Amino acid sequence: MSKLLIVGTVAFDAIETPFGKTDKILGGAATYIGLAASNFNIPSAIVSVVGNDFPEAYLKMLEDRNIDISAIEIVPDGKTFFWSGKYHNDMNSRDTLETQLNVLENFNPVVPEGYKDAEVVMLGNLHPLVQLSVLEQMTEKPKLVVLDTMNFWMDVALEDLKKVIAKVDVITINDEEARQLSGEYSLVKAARVIAEMGPKYVVIKKGEHGALLFHEDQAFFAPALPLEEVFDPTGAGDTFAGGFSGYIARTEDVSFENMKNAIVHGSNLASFCVEKFGTERMEGLAKEEVQKRLQRFKELTQFEIELS
Ligand code: AMP
Repeated sequence: MSKLLIVGTVAFDAIETPFGKTDKILGGAATYIGLAASNFNIPSAIVSVVGNDFPEAYLKMLEDRNIDISAIEIVPDGKTFFWSGKYHNDMNSRDTLETQLNVLENFNPVVPEGYKDAEVVMLGNLHPLVQLSVLEQMTEKPKLVVLDTMNFWMDVALEDLKKVIAKVDVITINDEEARQLSGEYSLVKAARVIAEMGPKYVVIKKGEHGALLFHEDQAFFAPALPLEEVFDPTGAGDTFAGGFSGYIARTEDVSFENMKNAIVHGSNLASFCVEKFGTERMEGLAKEEVQKRLQRFKELTQFEIELS
């Protein structure tokens, strides 16, 4: 069983959706990735940073899900990364209201000794130089490096981002960001341009419209599960990435065929994430409900058709 190394923000979020508004709650890319990946019972560790304003109970919750938190640095007198966002009636689009980098501004990540040979590295959303530093600390070449990022880093650190993109195997990115990064509107063309930057596999996330996987001249599509109610899409992209990388670490198979399954696992877990505000739904997720929904996924996408 492979080890999974995760890097990304561990954060406070304030979220507004048509269904309500939260004060500062637990968020962060690595938080969602870790919670999603914990469903695969693989050894995993998060590399991140928080301030001393960060409640111990949140760290304990991650630990209770068997995530190694020893490389989440706590900066005395530091303030935790803060993000606030607002969703409109169409919950596929959101506005970032505020991003306070705080302790992330001077963060030097340290990969724990036991994870320098991790087979799968999930570079979650945060400064591309931090992502790069984590890769440079690996003593063994990972079987698979997956990168997730967002428009914020394209706006403020594009050249650094391109450096890290050149070193990864898989990039997961949402549709708008794929367009921004590539300068192409067509997602097929965008995927081709992004693949030329380095990653052999390009995953484009389309929110409630599913996810696409591109590799050379092959493509695969998985829908998102149609849900009656979506309360809060925050973290869905990270949950998807955590499901994807967790499943690959669990199966130790980096073939295109297996990545299709990883996409379905990612989409399946993301469908839970959006059902409640913040991380609430992911914190208490039980194996049985994950399996049950996977079955629904299968039924949703399988059909017998006769080709004449
Ligand atoms: P997602 O909805 O999957 O795109 O991710 C939402 C999470 O990303 C939130 O919990 C935020 O704390 C975190 N986040 C927002 N902006 C950034 C950023 N610029 N860098 C890293 N993480 C971020």
